[in-house]
Amino acid sequence: MSSPIESLLGGVPTDLRVGGKELPASDGRRFDVIDPATGDVLATVADGTVEDALAAVDAAASAAEGWSATPPRERAEVLRRAFTLMTESAEDLARLITLENGKALPDARGEVAYAAEFFRWYAEEAVRVAGTLAPAPSGSNRIMVLHQPVGVCVLVTPWNFPAAMATRKMGPALAAGCTMVLKPASDTPLTALAMARILEEAGVPPGVVNVVPARRSGPVVSAMLHDPRVRKLSFTGSTEVGRVLLREAADNVVNTSMELGGNAPFLVFDDADLDAAVDGAMVAKMRNGGEACTAANRFYVHSAVATEFARRLADRMAAMRVGPGIEDGTELGPLVNAEAADKVDALVADAVGRGATRLTGGRRPDRVGFYYEPTVLTDVPEAAEILGEEIFGPVAPIVTFDDEADAIERANATEYGLVAYVYTRDLARGLRVAERLESGMIGLNRGVVSDPAAPFGGVKQSGLGREGGHEGVLDYTESKYVAVQW
Ligand code: NAD
Repeated sequence: MSSPIESLLGGVPTDLRVGGKELPASDGRRFDVIDPATGDVLATVADGTVEDALAAVDAAASAAEGWSATPPRERAEVLRRAFTLMTESAEDLARLITLENGKALPDARGEVAYAAEFFRWYAEEAVRVAGTLAPAPSGSNRIMVLHQPVGVCVLVTPWNFPAAMATRKMGPALAAGCTMVLKPASDTPLTALAMARILEEAGVPPGVVNVVPARRSGPVVSAMLHDPRVRKLSFTGSTEVGRVLLREAADNVVNTSMELGGNAPFLVFDDADLDAAVDGAMVAKMRNGGEACTAANRFYVHSAVATEFARRLADRMAAMRVGPGIEDGTELGPLVNAEAADKVDALVADAVGRGATRLTGGRRPDRVGFYYEPTVLTDVPEAAEILGEEIFGPVAPIVTFDDEADAIERANATEYGLVAYVYTRDLARGLRVAERLESGMIGLNRGVVSDPAAPFGGVKQSGLGREGGHEGVLDYTESKYVAVQW
């Protein structure tokens, strides 16, 4: 039987991409990529070794001088072509994402549009990496500041947004004049390999973007971080792995950007527009089937509106059509793998065991694939694990509050600080609460914050650095200061 990916994009690459060539792993090993909707093998992909990773660093280092010297206008045009090519291939890319990740096609289409937008935005930013010139306070000289490309970058991405997490790094790195080695997540390497081919078609010279999928991710990434030519690590993934990589990066004092886990609170005040709050909750919770670092993880709802909010949210969740993401009409696909479904199930069981009520869902449907029902839990006690951990699935735990200060305190009682959502009609309250929430991003009467033009990132243990916006390109540069006297 032919694989469903064969007809996409004129054939999806499954080998490493190093120095502009598609190559097998140096030890010949390959690993399976599984369709989460069926458990079937979609493709086998070259399993990069430490030697392959270092060969990719060689290629990136050789291409570095030429790419950084390429005029910003030319780099911008390449990025703009990449945006056009990605947009032209959007439907095939969306199908590929759905097949390897499981998410419903509408979510995958949304991801491709979002991912391509990073190429367009950074095409526009590539020509605006300006420096500054200022008089020194002493009056004796001038202070000139240049932003130069940081050098060879290692980019490590997660499986939940296989296209967007890669373009959010590759776009600004290319705009700044950096070369790179991307190590995509092993559950979803196909989208990254397909996009690397698109980038070369757009005119990215060989060696500028290298892609090394690797099951043996620990040794492979570690070897690259210990190569002195590597000057930057940009990682998106769990806080746990982020901590390991920060330690690894310390040996060579490698510049790091970390986009880590979240535990987003979603606050609904008694004066909120409930229709808008439920719409926002559906997006903040269910975009990507709940498998997003920005997913609303804990709902704090004022007791005056909690019953009504929970009922409306449960009705909407229960009406969602669950099935293989690739089928028309599906709104919720399977989770990425069996462990993810087991984890969600265990968190729900723990909450229910401690006294939470299932308003809807709360089970794994009886079908092949890694599914979980859209679930709303009420009366969730503070001690339940589900309030402290990233759920990464379609479950909304609801807790009530009576007092603004108490809601803020509970929302902040976590090691994470990526995003928080606030619903209120009182804008003064909304802004006051937004200032007090310990979070890198706030959705105020809005269930989505992600925007390539805005600085995305977290505080506390949700990360370091910002991706997107103008900040995103500066994260791939070093500031060089020249004291000038004339
Ligand atoms: P993960 O941390 O398990 O893996 C992320 C990447 O790191 C993958 O490519 C993986 O192969 C690699 N990796 C794993 N162990 C490694 C090691 N020891 N050394 C080097 N590389 C290693 O995360 P995941 O399960 O792929 O993704 C889900 C996590 O990502 C969630 O915690 C989510 O919140 C987070 N995330 C954060 C953002 C953000 O922008 N803050 C965005 C998306 C996902």
